[in-house]
Amino acid sequence: MEHRYVFATNNAHKLDEVRAMMGKQIELLSLKDIHCYDDIPETGSTLEENALLKARYVYEHFGMDCFADDTGLEVDALGGEPGVYSARYAGDAHNSDANIRKLLCNLKGKELRTARFRTVFALIVDGKEHLFEGTIEGTILTARHGTRGFGYDSVFVPNGYTQTFADMNAELKNRISHRAVAAGKLAQFLSKI
Ligand code: IMP
Repeated sequence: MEHRYVFATNNAHKLDEVRAMMGKQIELLSLKDIHCYDDIPETGSTLEENALLKARYVYEHFGMDCFADDTGLEVDALGGEPGVYSARYAGDAHNSDANIRKLLCNLKGKELRTARFRTVFALIVDGKEHLFEGTIEGTILTARHGTRGFGYDSVFVPNGYTQTFADMNAELKNRISHRAVAAGKLAQFLSKI
């Protein structure tokens, strides 16, 4: 039987990426598809809280089974920062260039360069909440490298690779990324219900 879920995002790339991982019997709707144009609050202090806040908002206002994601870059030498604040590390402008500048500045002179991207998906089905996590470990360079991708891609080298995420083609990044790992667990779960 076909099942419909709302993916609480309007990011077309994410939607395509996750859609491609789902079985044919699963239909995904974006926020736009359900005519949700609200500014959904992301006021949590963890990735889990934020993903749950977004999913609960859709479930409560639209009464549909749904899921939402939240991602952060956790840098060990900075006690896990920027973490849940990754998008607005250097201020509210969501400016990746400024965010990277602040990150590299805060890491200046530090030998410990380990970090991970972590994604959490929160799913609500029939009122029941489920969490799925994906991580990818790596290191932060001292300067940008590569022109692809977005966010912190140009300073993150995943373990086992010599390229940054911004050097990689999208196919490789989307196969190994934090989001792919978490979405894979979500897809696996949904294929069984
Ligand atoms: P979101 O929860 O997916 O919106 O991600 C929050 C922030 O984390 C983004 O604004 C980016 O700065 C960063 N981020 C998330 N995923 C990635 C990625 O795959 N590469 C680089 N940065 C990312």
